[in-house]
Amino acid sequence: MGERVVIALGGNAILRPKQEATVAVQLKNLETSAEQIARIEQLNYEVVLTHGNGPQVGNILRQNEVAKEVVPPAPLEVCNAQSQGFIGYMMEQTIKNALKKNQSNASVVTLYTQTEVDRKDPAFKQPNKPIGIFYDEDEAKKLAEEKEWTMMEDAGRGYRRVVPSPMPLSIHGMEAISHLLEKNIIVIAGGGGGIPVYKDDEGMLHGLEAVIDKDRTGKKMAEQVDADIFMMLTDVPNVYINYGKPNQKKLEELSVAEAEQYMQEGHFADGSMGPKMEAAISFAKGGRKAIICALDEADRALQGKAGTRIVG
Ligand code: ADP
Ligand code: MG
Repeated sequence: MGERVVIALGGNAILRPKQEATVAVQLKNLETSAEQIARIEQLNYEVVLTHGNGPQVGNILRQNEVAKEVVPPAPLEVCNAQSQGFIGYMMEQTIKNALKKNQSNASVVTLYTQTEVDRKDPAFKQPNKPIGIFYDEDEAKKLAEEKEWTMMEDAGRGYRRVVPSPMPLSIHGMEAISHLLEKNIIVIAGGGGGIPVYKDDEGMLHGLEAVIDKDRTGKKMAEQVDADIFMMLTDVPNVYINYGKPNQKKLEELSVAEAEQYMQEGHFADGSMGPKMEAAISFAKGGRKAIICALDEADRALQGKAGTRIVG
């Protein structure tokens, strides 16, 4: 078999800003990445996919909130599991259809995935990831007391619940993935960063109300399945230095040392490109390759003709 690649799909692969979150719209959007995956499969790569779930899990939380007098609301980790299931279904179906058009005999499976974190991760002391709907000040105070939620004012738009974003320690189910890849099966796993769980002193697993960054989970998965390449597909064709300024310059192929230098100079924004570059550098350091590119250029980026490629 060819090289093994782990691909993390950015939010815009499933839903773009201002689009209505219907299943039809999301299936249509997913056709672009499905075509790319089918092309990459034809290039003989073993493929593992992961994806974000921000807008989808936000809507599931909202459904729970609106219907709470009728059906007891599910905790966040269960909403996360639900989003893995339905996004996995949409991805699996669009990829199967794209493979069929290529007359490929590869198959696709979706694995629901738990991601283990450390209960003592400092993130639990500083919840900072806003999720779900906006509340007014009175509601926010009530929820903070009743449910012990941390509520935070979000850019003048009202109050939102914030949850911790701990580091992924270990992704469950990765032992199974190698067997599937060897049988020509494309695997979708770790959706939404995975369902956050921790092990207690007796080694028992428990769910946690947290959100794990999908690019960090993708990088961890890439390490655990011993991938050759870790790719992050997003809504820009390249990573840039001096991004958004008149002297912005796109990065094509660069070394780990160069990437670290630019990182230190502060070229990559905290909530967006920062975590991607951090994951890319950390993965490439092991003598491997990390790629950040546009959704519709994944096949060309793998062939060294597009995107930003960090080579360790
Ligand atoms: P995703 O859903 O793919 O994770 P993000 O919004 O988190 O998307 O990250 C992609 C965004 O990062 C781009 O749309 C861009 O606005 C932003 N960005 C910040 N700094 C840079 C940079 N130096 N080069 C390219 N994009 C950058
Ligand atoms: Mg992001």
